[in-house]
Amino acid sequence: MATASLRIDLDAIAANWRDLDALSAPGCETGAVVKADSYGLGAARVARRLAQAGARKFFVAAAEEGAAVRQALGEGPEIFVFSGHMAGDTDMIADLALIPMLNSLDQVTRHFETLPGAPFGVQLDTGMNRLGMEAGEWEAAAPIMLGAGPRVLMSHLACADAPDDPMNAAQLAEFRRMTDGLGVARSLSATGGILLGRDYHFDITRPGIGLYGGAPHAAARPVVRLSLPVVQCREVAAGETVGYSCGFTARRDSLIATVAAGYADGLSRALSGKATLYAGATPCPLVGRVSMDLITVDVTDLGEAPQDLDILCPEQGVDALAAVAGTIGYEILTALGARYQRHYVGGGA
Ligand SMILES: *Cc1c(COP(=O)(O)O)cnc(C)c1O
Repeated sequence: MATASLRIDLDAIAANWRDLDALSAPGCETGAVVKADSYGLGAARVARRLAQAGARKFFVAAAEEGAAVRQALGEGPEIFVFSGHMAGDTDMIADLALIPMLNSLDQVTRHFETLPGAPFGVQLDTGMNRLGMEAGEWEAAAPIMLGAGPRVLMSHLACADAPDDPMNAAQLAEFRRMTDGLGVARSLSATGGILLGRDYHFDITRPGIGLYGGAPHAAARPVVRLSLPVVQCREVAAGETVGYSCGFTARRDSLIATVAAGYADGLSRALSGKATLYAGATPCPLVGRVSMDLITVDVTDLGEAPQDLDILCPEQGVDALAAVAGTIGYEILTALGARYQRHYVGGGA
């Protein structure tokens, strides 16, 4: 088979959720962010496993994603939509009992006019300038919105992965100023904010990347193993070249494996000539250009042709591979290719 195998450890995801839950302040509920198909790992399977572990609040970016999660979870768990109530979302929000995080007066008007009495939350901007109502808008709308009983007031930190950044304390102070004393549940922290400490936890946390094995949750268990099949192996004499634009020239007589995954599968061209694959614990350098469906790997030092090579494994996690590509673990995960065969291991889902 010339499609790669992506092994997803659902028990590791559940264990990461429990670890973040244990870090949280008493009385604080740990939610789970399952947007972008659970960071590329499969929203239905992941959400079911997390529900089994005890998660009751799920977060998605768009209503369509919420529909897939509702189908997987059935009635009961709350599903919050970060992008709020967009035109065209009304039926989905109503039929699937999604909870939009209202971001603007336009969205407030749409929600109250089309679905009076339906649940909602409010997203507040505390300085990131991306989503949410600004202080002035909130002051004007708060009396009406509070009267309608929002489920949660939330905001998002811009710099939580940098604990010493003064932006964190500034956003915390602004969030308190906008929400203290209102008697509504509050949520400020994603993975990075949970690690900043209990002042940042409030009533509900929203971890994503920390569930899926990525920084800044340094203690996270690895969740994915990506094994790529070797399609063929050839001897390349010293001085010969490999791949597009003759991107690699063999300095010695070499054994080169041609491996079935490329940039169409989320292996960025920025990995060309830089990444490392693993045969067990033995590192093998990627040589030449990443092409659409294939990469080439120097396996000379193995002395034999391997059946497959790993690019995500205990030896090289998502953040290590991301560093080589000049990106972040989030992008490595969410780019994981649609052609990979996803194999789930672990309990009950
Ligand atoms: C993506 C996202 C999260 C989860 O962030 P992680 O850094 O992956 O934990 C939480 N809240 C909002 C608003 C988000 O967009």
